[in-house]
Amino acid sequence: MNSCFIISQFFLIENILIIFAANYKYMPRNKRLRKIVAPPRFSGYKPYGCRPQSSIPVELFFEEYEALKLADYKMLNHEQAAILMDISRATFARIYENARRKIALALVETREIVTSTGSSYTEKKWKLCNNCHARFNKSGNNTLSACPLCSSENTVHINF
Ligand SMILES: [Zn+2]
Repeated sequence: MNSCFIISQFFLIENILIIFAANYKYMPRNKRLRKIVAPPRFSGYKPYGCRPQSSIPVELFFEEYEALKLADYKMLNHEQAAILMDISRATFARIYENARRKIALALVETREIVTSTGSSYTEKKWKLCNNCHARFNKSGNNTLSACPLCSSENTVHINF
């Protein structure tokens, strides 16, 4: 075994360790999913009448939207909202706080808001019509293949 071989093997192992460390850093924690009734009826919001300070949008998770909706729109207390989302009161408080901070950040820095599934699930599968932007789930005679409003087949799943 010559020294060049040993050195090349060393760098190979070092590269593998760096790749492993880089991937480990971004591995998601094994989070419990949070139940939501329905995904938001929009993909995002854009500020207008202003000059945006940042082009980086604020990502609002479905469970954060649900927490805001339950606490600030439906006026439920944290205990009631946590039961509906099948999470502890402390977890609900954390999600709710994150949601408020993200909305504040978007408003103050005039940044766009985009929604994403986050760590949420729904009991029904929801779809989005790419033609009329309606959101719908399987109910009645609707088989989820076509949009119940415009009958378009150009639809995509919103959640898993
Ligand atoms: Zn439609």
